[in-house]
Amino acid sequence: MDLSCLKTLGIDQTNSGAYAGKWRKTKGEAMAVRSPIDGSTLATVNLADAADYAEVSRGSLAAFRRWRELPAPKRGEYVRLMGERFRQHKEALGRLVTLETGKILPEGLGEVQECIDIADFAVGLSRQLYGLTIASERRYHSMRETWHPLGPVGIVTAFNFPIAVWAWNAMLALVCGDGLIWKPSLKTPLTAIAMTKIAAEVLGGEWQALAGLVIGPDSTVGSALLDDPNVPLVSATGSTRMGRIVGPRVAQRFGRTLLELGGNNAMVVMDDADLDLAVRAIVFGAVGTAGQRCTTTRRLLVHYAIYEQLLGQLAAAYKQCKIGNPLEKNVLVGPLVDEAAAKAFDHAVRSAVEQGGKVVCGGGRAKVPGPLRGGAYVQPTIIRCDEMLPIVREETFAPILYVIPVESVDEAIALNNDVPQGLSSAIFTNNVRSAEQFMAAGGSDCGIANVNIGTSGAEIGGAFGGEKETGGGRESGSDSWKAYMRRQTSTVNWGNELPLSQGIRFGNF
Ligand code: NAD
Repeated sequence: MDLSCLKTLGIDQTNSGAYAGKWRKTKGEAMAVRSPIDGSTLATVNLADAADYAEVSRGSLAAFRRWRELPAPKRGEYVRLMGERFRQHKEALGRLVTLETGKILPEGLGEVQECIDIADFAVGLSRQLYGLTIASERRYHSMRETWHPLGPVGIVTAFNFPIAVWAWNAMLALVCGDGLIWKPSLKTPLTAIAMTKIAAEVLGGEWQALAGLVIGPDSTVGSALLDDPNVPLVSATGSTRMGRIVGPRVAQRFGRTLLELGGNNAMVVMDDADLDLAVRAIVFGAVGTAGQRCTTTRRLLVHYAIYEQLLGQLAAAYKQCKIGNPLEKNVLVGPLVDEAAAKAFDHAVRSAVEQGGKVVCGGGRAKVPGPLRGGAYVQPTIIRCDEMLPIVREETFAPILYVIPVESVDEAIALNNDVPQGLSSAIFTNNVRSAEQFMAAGGSDCGIANVNIGTSGAEIGGAFGGEKETGGGRESGSDSWKAYMRRQTSTVNWGNELPLSQGIRFGNF
């Protein structure tokens, strides 16, 4: 495999797992980073320990205390320069994402583009961190609400978006005046090292320590981050299992969390839908990234009148999806991230069949050429179910699509909402009433509800996140920036009396 992108991005054979203004001599386990494509070793990272974490935290806090004094548009200028570097290195970064995650190259490049887009968004935002002026009930008083920097933000990232998730958080946090402490997934540490090198280089001498990075076990550096009183906000992206640990633990010390957890996303297809459009959206949503997106389409709720027709069209479309090396042109399905993910796929298919589902296509491991046998390749799978089987309620991070018949929009909405997760949802219909009902208060209970667009592939301009077991956090566009700042209400008395609010009179005082 061509590994030249590693050199371009300054990744060595052996790398340090902690950055605190300079790379530390980490002494933890030497972890081999393997590519899901073929199981080959890309490089080694010496993991960080709790002492390294303490140094990263100290560095980020000290830099934050000065960074918060810098006017926000000046902070935005640093982010603008970062965006330029991401553009310069788009090709190399995109290849590295593919090497480390196994997603196909166009999606790897798309992820870098997402990072460029959020940098651009953050630059504009650096001049728009608006507060409010509020009418005071007291004469000769003025009242205002301002937003101030928060502190070093802990950023815990999932393996499947190793660049974008950090960038969504980091670009906003930096313009908001915060420091960063990044704890990436141990499955994708090289992308984190590459991105930190770029950010630290742009920040330069005085500010380098703002871009803290710590790569190590959850039990040591992960725990240290969750318990760190100097970290007012932990933004954590990953499984609901992880969120169940992180949420209460950070709350214990009255820290804030921003949780972006698992999804179990449904697409409704009504009998008046444009089926060609729907098929394209379903294939991208269910098969893209080998089913390893939080927004992957996992459930299809199809009007019974078009159920068989749509299944037939989908089965034909699935046949055309080439499985193989994600660096190769025309390949649409790369490997799962590791063998454990493939075992979870096997288990889900087995359970679905035991519970009454019928495999329409796929269902097993994919045959791949010899050099790829070190990877975990599975077939994109469609399973027809007469009802919501117990396994359908779980998120299996693999390309399995459960297809369930429905009789009406009401039933489709009820089934859409009948899972513990609440991230993304979509309806395909040409009926404006059905579309509006799906997006109304009594419609989809998800953070994202689309019409004639699939469940995956969000733009950065909107707030991204979900309800229920997805965690309730919102990241990226709109007013998500408010999570990275603290709100202050100030009232000024410019008169020569001291009226109390609510008209209270306190004796002669
Ligand atoms: P994961 O939960 O295994 O790991 C995510 C991150 O959490 C990693 O950095 C991991 O090291 C860390 N972590 C786990 N337990 C921890 C602990 N006890 N203390 C501190 N850190 C801990 O998830 P994954 O397999 O990397 O990613 C897949 C999952 O992420 C899926 O469930 C997917 O839906 C979800 N995801 C959600 C979003 C979203 O925006 N909602 C985006 C991407 C991925």
